[in-house]
Amino acid sequence: MTQAETDQQRRTLRSAADLRAAGFVAQADMAQLAEVEARYATAISPAMLTLIDRDDPTDPIARQFVPGAEELTLIPEETPDPIGDHTHMPVDGVVHRYPDRVLLKVTPVCPVYCRFCFRREMVGPGKDAPLSAEKLERALDYIRSDPRIWEVILTGGDPFMLSAGKAAALTRQLDAIEHVRCIRWHTRMPVADPGRVDAAYIAALCETGKAVTVVVHANHARELTEDACAAIARLVDSGVVVLSQSVLLRGVNDSFDNLADLMRAFVANRVRPYYLHQMDFAPGTSHFRVPLDEARALVQRLRDELSGVCQPTFVIDIPGGVSKAVASASDVDLSSQAPRIRGRDGVWRRYPID
Ligand SMILES: *Cc1c(COP(=O)(O)O)cnc(C)c1O
Ligand code: SF4
Repeated sequence: MTQAETDQQRRTLRSAADLRAAGFVAQADMAQLAEVEARYATAISPAMLTLIDRDDPTDPIARQFVPGAEELTLIPEETPDPIGDHTHMPVDGVVHRYPDRVLLKVTPVCPVYCRFCFRREMVGPGKDAPLSAEKLERALDYIRSDPRIWEVILTGGDPFMLSAGKAAALTRQLDAIEHVRCIRWHTRMPVADPGRVDAAYIAALCETGKAVTVVVHANHARELTEDACAAIARLVDSGVVVLSQSVLLRGVNDSFDNLADLMRAFVANRVRPYYLHQMDFAPGTSHFRVPLDEARALVQRLRDELSGVCQPTFVIDIPGGVSKAVASASDVDLSSQAPRIRGRDGVWRRYPID
């Protein structure tokens, strides 16, 4: 780890006590926050911290990262593994739900912990263990043994938490598997800690002749700071395909203007909008959920008013891990009292629970 990286990690706020000391939470809330902290990890990186407007009690950056007592409210639809990772795990660290691609979960840690994370029960220091060298080897054996696997998607946690050396080693191992043609990284690092996505790191990702894709997670246009955009530019200039993913979040981006600004900021920085996710039913996240009919109206307005290159696909993960569904009229039927959703298997199920 470089000195700069160590400094970044040191200055990251990681506990209710850190937040109290920095003036982000009131003493009166500390007891409830202790309960939140016992369940879910906290981290706010310096880059995100400096973006928070302390005078705005509804600041959309603070809302994503500062823990709150609302997280103790659980609704019946919420489950610890909302998208069913654990039901499609042939070996530790691998989620194989669709024939031509696998998720490889290389680390459970992230540079920031989003309060709405769908893997919140699994991410954080002391949750799932990092993938050991042995388990990684077994995961790679699994990928080597199945010629249908055309793409490997590195995820976590945040796979950019791997050191540049480890990212390079992993890239070389995937590069050696003939049937794997594409390597895709899903990460929040370019916004959460842009300095870490430096030339050396990008060189590590590019130690392959195969297509390298980076999907950047950001939810508000303000996250695309000058530093974040510089990190994205370094990736694009190195020949990496950069796509976006965002989550539709109450109080963060649940307005036409906010979504339009976000999608335009992506495109203006050469990032192709890829996914806009309807919130999964992760525990303690109901304060973030935008009802589906309202969500679809927002997406329809994007369709009507924004350039075609600014259109993300609006998707829902069908609870239990069947597949994603496109939240359009053909996959989602809101016409009756009991909303239904259609998976890639053609089966209509009740939504949110079946
Ligand atoms: C979303 C997802 C993927 C990737 O799907 P794409 O539609 O190709 O982006 C892969 N595996 C799992 C388990 C997923 O949830
Ligand atoms: S960076 Fe991704 S995996 Fe990590 S807490 Fe945020 S949403 Fe979850």
